[in-house]
Amino acid sequence: MKIFRHIAARYSGFYLYFYKVTEHIFLFLRPVFMWIGLSRFEWSLSFVEWASKGILFDCRMCGQCLLSSTGMVCPMNCPKEIRNGPCGGVREGGFCEIDSRMKCVWVEAWAGVKKTGEEETFTIPLRPAEANQQGSSAWAKVIEKNKDEDELFRVKIFPPTSLEVGPHLRPSGILEQRLQAGKFVVTAELSPPDSADPDEITQRVAPLKGLVTAVNVPDGAGANCHMSSLASSVILHNAGVVPVMQYACRDRNRIALQGDILGAAALGVTNLLCITGDSIQAGDQKGAKPVFDLDSISLLRVAKMMRDDGIFLSGRQLRKKPDLFLGAALNPFASPLDARVLRMERKINAGAQFFQTQFCFDIPALQRFMAEVRARELDKKCYILVGVGPLVSAKAAKFIKSSIPGVVIPEHIIERMERAGDERQEGKKICIETLNQIREIEGVSGVHIMSYRKERLLAEIISQSYILG
Ligand code: SF4
Repeated sequence: MKIFRHIAARYSGFYLYFYKVTEHIFLFLRPVFMWIGLSRFEWSLSFVEWASKGILFDCRMCGQCLLSSTGMVCPMNCPKEIRNGPCGGVREGGFCEIDSRMKCVWVEAWAGVKKTGEEETFTIPLRPAEANQQGSSAWAKVIEKNKDEDELFRVKIFPPTSLEVGPHLRPSGILEQRLQAGKFVVTAELSPPDSADPDEITQRVAPLKGLVTAVNVPDGAGANCHMSSLASSVILHNAGVVPVMQYACRDRNRIALQGDILGAAALGVTNLLCITGDSIQAGDQKGAKPVFDLDSISLLRVAKMMRDDGIFLSGRQLRKKPDLFLGAALNPFASPLDARVLRMERKINAGAQFFQTQFCFDIPALQRFMAEVRARELDKKCYILVGVGPLVSAKAAKFIKSSIPGVVIPEHIIERMERAGDERQEGKKICIETLNQIREIEGVSGVHIMSYRKERLLAEIISQSYILG
């Protein structure tokens, strides 16, 4: 019931107080529960929890309640079940990427968090949901463990990884090396083919060779199937091109994700960009089953554990740790704007070392975002590569603006395209101007240039801009 979420977010301060009092009563009565035997109460406790939280918070009974960290809004109502939202696809006005009639659950959660005055909690990664706990009582776990929910279900926060200290002094590859050396880095995106022919990859990447430090391979971008990111990355690596393997949580559970991370590292692919993934509904196989076992922040944390602690999420030891340079996506232009820097910090706390942003068409908005990043000194804890790409026509710009969630194109850019005699050339010119302006922004470490299956055009743009110095 969306109305319950709305009310809970609106009066989150009161609800949180009431909720905490209830929690303390449970903990106070713990000896009684334990003396009688918690198992005797568990069923009735679950029922009361389901009924009361269902009415008050539209609770989905995940069994690992995070309400006190999410503005009293149940995150399991997010269609991607993201535990660390909001995703980068939030539509204008704060509406959901997947269900455009519904307010984004995490936009409501952020509104609730602000009412409680606990905005800084948005920087703490929250644990992924355990599927086997679905339907069980979170209250019973609080009583049994004698800990409050925050302690039980939030992730223990580690000091943010600094660029100067920590376990990453030895770079995992050329991309990390160049960033560490303070070079302005250019990366580009390659669209993997609808083909089993490896030559299609090597031919497509040829114009970019020597111009860029690394090449990203999207993972089922737009929820459409292409050659896999892992296989395409290995083909690039073998062809002497540094790949950044994008890796989406949409299509795999945690077992497959961890296995592929090990496999990729074993084959020489060490740059990993962790993403949650676009909605299945964006693609051409709408009947596919979305997985979303982890979200991007949980995936970052898992990959960091594998690299730094040499363990799987289960705690089982690895014999050889994977060498990884961990990246994350960033959308400085999507709602809620005032939460974006904090969510970026949450990703850094989970393990992100570099970011590649959504398309930037709005330099003043980027400058405002970067001012906030610098104010929190996040530019000293990660590398930020700003996404850019050429528009090919005013019509295409309008289509992207209205149909691709998370991409924001200001009206003045569309008007400029409409006025132009040669729209394609104008799009290229705008892109080059944007690249040159980004180069001057303090705290930006590089650019990430993207355009679907237009690798040759990308190479022309890079050559004609000043970004290579
Ligand atoms: S916009 Fe993204 S984070 Fe928000 S409810 Fe929709 S899928 Fe979830």
